[in-house]
Amino acid sequence: MTRFTDYVTSKGKNLKELSNEAIYYLLLDFVKAEAVEMPKNDSKRKVYYISAEFLIGKLLSNNLINLGIYQEIQEELAAAGKHISEIEDVEPEPSLGNGGLGRLASCFIDSMATLGINGEGVGLNYHCGLFKQVFKDRQQDAEPNFWIEDDSWLTPTTISYEVPFKEFTLKSRLDRVDILGYKKESKNYLNLFDIDGLDYGLIRDGITFDQEEIQKNLTLFLYPDDSTRQGELLRIYQQYFMVSNAAQLLIDEALQRGSNLHDLADYAYVQINDTHPSMVIPELIRLLTDQHSFSFEEAVAVVSQMVGYTNHTILAEALEKWPLDYLEEVVPHLVPIIKQLDALIRKQYSDPQIQIIDDQDRVHMAHMDIHFSTSVNGVAALHTEILKNSELKPFYDLYPERFNNKTNGITFRRWLEFSNQELAAYIKELIGEDYLQDATQLEKLTAFADDPAVHERLAEIKRDNKVSLQRYLKANKGIDLDVDSIIDTQIKRFHEYKRQQMNALYVIHKYLEIKRGILPKRKITIVFGGKAAPAYVIAQDIIHLILTLSELINQDPSVNPYLNVFLVENYNVTVAEHLIPATDISEQISLASKEASGTGNMKFMLNGALTLGTMDGANVEIAELVGPENIYTFGKDSDTIIDLYAQAGYVSKDYYEGDERIKEAVDFIVSEELLALGNKERLERLYHELISKDWFMTLIDLAEYIEKKEKVYADYEDQESWNKKVVLNIAKAGFFSSDRTIQQYDEEIWHTK
Ligand SMILES: *Cc1c(COP(=O)(O)O)cnc(C)c1O
Repeated sequence: MTRFTDYVTSKGKNLKELSNEAIYYLLLDFVKAEAVEMPKNDSKRKVYYISAEFLIGKLLSNNLINLGIYQEIQEELAAAGKHISEIEDVEPEPSLGNGGLGRLASCFIDSMATLGINGEGVGLNYHCGLFKQVFKDRQQDAEPNFWIEDDSWLTPTTISYEVPFKEFTLKSRLDRVDILGYKKESKNYLNLFDIDGLDYGLIRDGITFDQEEIQKNLTLFLYPDDSTRQGELLRIYQQYFMVSNAAQLLIDEALQRGSNLHDLADYAYVQINDTHPSMVIPELIRLLTDQHSFSFEEAVAVVSQMVGYTNHTILAEALEKWPLDYLEEVVPHLVPIIKQLDALIRKQYSDPQIQIIDDQDRVHMAHMDIHFSTSVNGVAALHTEILKNSELKPFYDLYPERFNNKTNGITFRRWLEFSNQELAAYIKELIGEDYLQDATQLEKLTAFADDPAVHERLAEIKRDNKVSLQRYLKANKGIDLDVDSIIDTQIKRFHEYKRQQMNALYVIHKYLEIKRGILPKRKITIVFGGKAAPAYVIAQDIIHLILTLSELINQDPSVNPYLNVFLVENYNVTVAEHLIPATDISEQISLASKEASGTGNMKFMLNGALTLGTMDGANVEIAELVGPENIYTFGKDSDTIIDLYAQAGYVSKDYYEGDERIKEAVDFIVSEELLALGNKERLERLYHELISKDWFMTLIDLAEYIEKKEKVYADYEDQESWNKKVVLNIAKAGFFSSDRTIQQYDEEIWHTK
């Protein structure tokens, strides 16, 4: 009961007299000391989950929960007059990821540890990570995010490899983060490779930096600006550095565990998370042929038995195609191997759609992955079907047995047990705590669907979470939240396909209605959060539109009693942990067929928000699980959208001219009122984009969206039936545990057991 207090005393200190900061660093050391003692997971075959991103979030609370001592520590601290949440505030959030893909990788390593699977993450230790978003003049500005402190969750190792590039060889160093499973005695690692000699002096204004000095900039930033040739080359340097280290580590560890390398596939499996780590295939072949005297044919045979590829998107721009001459410039030693792989495929198949190197001498990384792997998976049922039937159809025809679906998931330890402690405690009261290890147990909540006492308590918890959110937003983001309003939230990366602009057009519609005296029954707060890629101009314009609308609406005393609009600065895991438990309505409104899965949708469902969404990604599976009466869906389906693209059949002007509400909302973007506050160039560009191109079809679903949103708000007024829906959503969320997802990866792809 007083373990931590004893630890503090053993350091000659008194808990009561320490600052929150001092306590945080003591807790960090205390947890690390516990973790050091734990044995690693073990099995003959080990999984290497290679990913350019790990959006891990803060680790203190998660580690305390997984050690099973969160409550104990909380009580010890409280006895000394300290609040655990204030101590959690001291921790900087690691900045090693960008969005859903990196967060998924983090949920996956949590689940691998929880299931006792011998599987580790491998990535890079970006010192400034993804940029920090700040708003200036209602526009996004990017600043470097230094997150690494002297005392951190990183543990240095003596492991180091030489990574050869054309002009020089770089020595790596490996830092590790212990990954603890929930109430498990053993652990895994997150392996983060880095270089010595990184030079912060290369950073100039904001996040611009000298991109030429690879030996001093390699691990400075995640996703450096790649709008220039030098930027693209830097990404190749980073990717090769990541996979060469991973491949060398994997071979070393297999040798240590008794492999003769001819049986390497029995000792290792590599999961390629999106195409960023694809060069691991030729790199493994290179190492086996150059250093371990394999023939090319045998190396190919071994490597193709130990690799799986996860596809995360059907957006063409995200499927990497590196020009051969770029590869020549950075990693010339891989080029002959890639050419030989290409030749192997050409010898067997003539279809140009499935070649690795195309007629413009570009290397299609995904094609290489598919040909030389055992598994190709999509991340939600609909997404996998689209891969099989359209995007990757020629490959599916060739290798039907390789294609499989692994619907994404989230870790319930972070996204319920930690972030919504009151709800988690109440669920335990109702059904016990087995659901933390077996999420399907949540189904037991179905028995309470019509229980008015349960409805009332859930409403109370939601309101308490709104009060905590209010405190957080006030203290950290300068936002005044009205806790009596409906909270309607859209948080995710800014991208046209995610259609934040459609939600913004709804905001305009509502604003104009209020101005005309058509008032909502209850105040609505629409919350946005998300970063836009610095080089993505239209996404920046959408951010500007929302910030300008927010200013206009929140300042107007004739409107602000009925409507508030906020864009929370610097959306990250910590912000998500505060927003999600307080949200009533979860906005998942991507253009059908474009969102591979989404995982934000799952977090909201688990926390008792109802989904307003299109039939896209995992929304489809949510709808199947809860039934049509417990979700609000709208919009054109994915088949219709895919056909429209095929026929180039969408004309945004038709929708603009065909519906007065749409025309009025779009026109308002360039109205005098808005131009008086906003940036003319940005607003006009966005306006023209919407009426003349609108590639992601904002206007096609806008009319239905407006109507469905009105229905959701109206339904909220019947709290009895609303909370019944809430119970059923939580009860059915068990399927979306990442423990289920990882169990399937292991049983169907990795076979570690
Ligand atoms: C879950 C999560 C995401 C992914 O959100 P989607 O709505 O699925 O795009 C992105 N960023 C953070 C910080 C998250 O926690």
